[in-house]
Amino acid sequence: MYKNWDELRKDCLECRRCDLAPTRTNLVFGVGNEKAEVMFVGEGPGYNEDMQGEPFVGRGGQLLDKYLTHINLDRKKNIYIANMVKCRPPENRDPSDAEMDCCIEWLREQTRLIRPKIIVCLGRISAQRLISKDFRVTQQHGEFIEKGGILFMGTFHPAALLRNPNNKPLALDDFLALRDKIKEVCVHTYEL
Ligand code: URA
Repeated sequence: MYKNWDELRKDCLECRRCDLAPTRTNLVFGVGNEKAEVMFVGEGPGYNEDMQGEPFVGRGGQLLDKYLTHINLDRKKNIYIANMVKCRPPENRDPSDAEMDCCIEWLREQTRLIRPKIIVCLGRISAQRLISKDFRVTQQHGEFIEKGGILFMGTFHPAALLRNPNNKPLALDDFLALRDKIKEVCVHTYEL
């Protein structure tokens, strides 16, 4: 168990636990406020994230930032963003269960240090791993589920919204529901 971010980040950046390590350009640790009450978890880095070492910086990330801005959230200010796996899966394939098994301990440590009140799962991969094995984004998006003292909500992955823009209004509703939930359970998110 890590007591501080510097040690956690240092060890994580040197991680070679799985086969994704040798092919990475940069490990994508996470970005945001280490005291955030709201955390977002995506799937894994893509090309742009691997190049820049920051989550959600490609086209999907720009869309995510639009939704965040709409409800006064800001990746540099009042939230934290991480992924299920910290290194890019080749050809942008889904991370395997084995890769997520190797990597999830880093996410657990980040979550332990942050102690978020709300975790938003961006897409099926993180929702099925963190909320429930058979989570269906199209049916269960926007629902808040309490687990171990944290409220979890799954919503559409930004890349899925780029492929299927018909779901954008549903995603917007999820973000508005998130704003309401933040006002209900968070103390300082909208004060920052
Ligand atoms: N997709 C993800 O799930 N995470 C990223 O960081 C970028 C794209």
